[in-house]
Order: sequence, then structure tokens, then C-alpha cells
Amino acid sequence: MASLSTLAEAAPLAPALRCIGAASDALLGARGCLFTFHRAALSAEWENLPNRNFYLDLDFLDRLLSYLAAHDWKIVTIEEALERARANRRGDRFVNFSVDDCYRDSFEAVVPLFRRHRAPVTLFVTTGIPDRAMSLWHVGLEHALLRRDRLSLGGRLVDCTTGELKRQAYLAISSRWDGPQATALYEAFCGENGFDPGEIHDAHAISWEMLEALQDDPLVEIGTHTVTHARISSLDEETALREMIGARRRLQERLGVAARHFAFPYGRSGDAGRRDFELARRAGYASAATTGKGLMRKNCDPFRLPRNTLRGDARSCGLAEAHMSGLSGLAARALGRV
Ligand SMILES: [Zn+2]
Repeated sequence: MASLSTLAEAAPLAPALRCIGAASDALLGARGCLFTFHRAALSAEWENLPNRNFYLDLDFLDRLLSYLAAHDWKIVTIEEALERARANRRGDRFVNFSVDDCYRDSFEAVVPLFRRHRAPVTLFVTTGIPDRAMSLWHVGLEHALLRRDRLSLGGRLVDCTTGELKRQAYLAISSRWDGPQATALYEAFCGENGFDPGEIHDAHAISWEMLEALQDDPLVEIGTHTVTHARISSLDEETALREMIGARRRLQERLGVAARHFAFPYGRSGDAGRRDFELARRAGYASAATTGKGLMRKNCDPFRLPRNTLRGDARSCGLAEAHMSGLSGLAARALGRV
């Protein structure tokens, strides 16, 4: 059976999906769709990336922003999305884009693209990234694979001469590393192959200087995404609060920004639950976002905002419509994928 994403990529389906969305508005009122992604790359670079689903193709993002304007979707901040959901004005349709973690390309490519479209974008910053206090092992592994045709892993040679071999190696190694040992394994790998983890970090991380340059831009909303990208549900209450409050304090110290919005790392139902939504409220935030698919409607819980993840290979306005119509959220709930 064709998947929803395959069906949605067929161009003629976009108008049908628009009709489904419009029909639901007559019943349910204002409709908001929050999108999230991590990184972005030029089309030519995107093709070669070992972990390319982690990146949006900038050409596609450019097309999607034009598509939204052509179909009367208002692009807003999280702050404005909350106001619009509360106001529930008839026929109101709004979209938000948030970038999680935040890397150098948020500053160099994503914000400039949104500026060109005169549209706002939300940055959910993991403060350990500009603070250089956490390991970006997944980024470093990709960096190494892109730059070498052969790598050494625990004394074994890894052949990564082609794009396909690089993608396979990324998948195999990252799934083996994932967990508490990831940083140590990555550092050993860097040593074995002559890479400097600090240099790789600086080549990819967003810096405080970049964030300072963005903080007064009315098109940039800055929120937080913990200090160390911890899975909040796995932490005891005190540690979870420290991750949430610590990130806000750090932004306040470095930028003088009082962040009002938070996004849970990973963001699925197993990563953030009822206790954690309450902790986000106690930590002083006005909202908290998950990555559960769905739409923002009048009565949605501001501490459990649904967000629809845009994967790199989903380069279709039809698929975006599947999220904006609410169909992908319905399908996810029907399949128990929340
Ligand atoms: Zn994240």
C-alpha cells in the first residue's frame, strides 16, 4: 500500500488536501500548523550528505515559503500562534517554522532565507552547543565521512568512497554509538583518524556571537531546547528542571533574552509526558512543543504543542499539505505513532 507521504507527493493531491483542511475549518475554526527541522543545505550539497534526512533542501524550503504565501497562510512566531489559536478567528490559517538545536547554518542560510520572504522563524537553542559543552558526535561523524574515502574504526578500515557507502557507514556507526558511550567512542574515532573534535564543533555549531547578531531581529524568535539535549522523560524532576531553567538562564545571561518558549528534545510521547509538560510550566515557560504530529486548534494545550517534523527527503509541498490539512496527524494517531 502506498504510504501517506508517497500519496501526498503526487502534485494533484495538494488541492484535494487543501479542500479537506478547509472543510475541517468550518467545523473547528482557526487552524495552525507548526513545522520543525534541524539543518538546511543547498540542493547540490544535500544530495551528498551522509545524514541528509537531518537537513532540509534550501530550494524546497524556498518553494514551500512561496507556496504558503500564494495560498494565504500566515507565517508567525510561536508567540503569535498561541494568540491566534486563542482568538480562533474564522478562516485564520497560520504556520510556524522552528529550528531545533541550532547549528551554524541556522545563522548562515535559514534566517537569511526567511528574511527574504519577510517571514519569522523560531530558533530553539540547545545552549550546550554555543557553550561548546556538549559533544556533537553525530555531526562530527558526518563531517569525517564527507571528507575521507577511507576511515579507521577500532583498527578496521571503513570504505566510504561513494555517497551510498558514506550513507550506509553513517547509519551503521551512528546506531552503534548512540547511547551514553557516544562521546567517548567519537573522541577515540577522531584520535584514530586525526580529526580535532573542537575544530569540527566550531565548523558546525551556532556561536553566541551569531545569536547576538540575531537577537534583535523582529523575524527571529529565540526559545530553548535544554542545556545538553537531554531526553526529559528519562531525568528525575530536579535534573529535568535544571535542563529547562538552566537553558533559559543561559540565554538571559548571554543575550539578555527572556525565552518564553521551550521545545522538548526528541519530542515524541516517550520523550516527554504529562509530568514534563507540568515541569515546563513550572520552569516559567509560556509554552512547550513536542514532535507529535497534528494541528493547533483553539483548545490545544500550550505545554503540549504538536509539531510536524520536515525530513530532508520530504521535498514536496503536497506532503506539507498533508500536515497542514491535519491528515498526517490523524494517520499517526490511528497508527499509534505519537
Ligand atoms: Zn533537538
